[in-house]
Amino acid sequence: MSLKVKCPRCKKEVPWKDNKWRPFCSEKCKMIDLGTWANEDFRISDDTDHITIADNSIDDEELV
Ligand SMILES: [Zn+2]
Repeated sequence: MSLKVKCPRCKKEVPWKDNKWRPFCSEKCKMIDLGTWANEDFRISDDTDHITIADNSIDDEELV
């Protein structure tokens, strides 16, 4: 049994098993699909996540 999936990016059929980039066919397609998830951007958004969460809780208190 060899389960295959179609890469959402280029529609190429790739084996599901032993595919570390699944459901994509390669790291390239995965990175393209994730788009803005370039390494540096991801680190920046990781930092701002805490700020966003803090802002939201302040907004909630104001609304109540
Ligand atoms: Zn692909």
